[in-house]
Amino acid sequence: MKNIIILGAPGSGKGTLSKQISDKYKHHHISTGDLLRERKKIQDETGKLISSLIDDGRFVPDDLILKIIQEEMIKNPSFILDGFPRNPQQMQMLSRMLEENKKTEKPIVVILQIGMKTAFERIQNRAKSKDREDDQSDIILKKRMTEFMKKTLPVINHYTKFSDSIILDGSQNIDKVFEDFNLKYDEAIV
Ligand code: ADP
Repeated sequence: MKNIIILGAPGSGKGTLSKQISDKYKHHHISTGDLLRERKKIQDETGKLISSLIDDGRFVPDDLILKIIQEEMIKNPSFILDGFPRNPQQMQMLSRMLEENKKTEKPIVVILQIGMKTAFERIQNRAKSKDREDDQSDIILKKRMTEFMKKTLPVINHYTKFSDSIILDGSQNIDKVFEDFNLKYDEAIV
């Protein structure tokens, strides 16, 4: 299995698909969202900064995320990146990191497409069962969607044009998304 970058709107199912892939192929799941939520539990200066940004639906600074990603990628040469890169600057940082680290294989990009209405409904549902501050209010949810459209969509467009990528319909049920991933992955690597 190649290294993988998973991209998609909030609520598109990145975390779920990452988990399915990491269970089956033993790739390490690097979720920037999970790592940040874990890091914010230590309420030092960095932890407080992270809380104030992510709980308000905004991105954290690039240098902070880069440090976290670098540590994880060094520890795990086989990985699924979930939540990074999220803007064009981070995309450049990643491509520099991959160039410098010749041992790390060039990842394949998996894009989860979903309509905004479905994504919204999924997150509103998740808000009931999972304790994530940024899921709790519609205003913050709208901010996250806007951040995604302004900053992450250009990254997706770039990868679609210039990298090996797989596009999946994220509005399907969990098993169907995984089934499509397996089929398209096999087609993409031959
Ligand atoms: P989702 O993409 O479904 O909103 P995540 O768990 O991936 O959820 O991310 C939650 C929050 O963590 C984001 O809204 C953002 O504030 C922060 N975050 C995650 N990854 C990054 C990143 N690469 N750069 C900046 N902020 C990030």
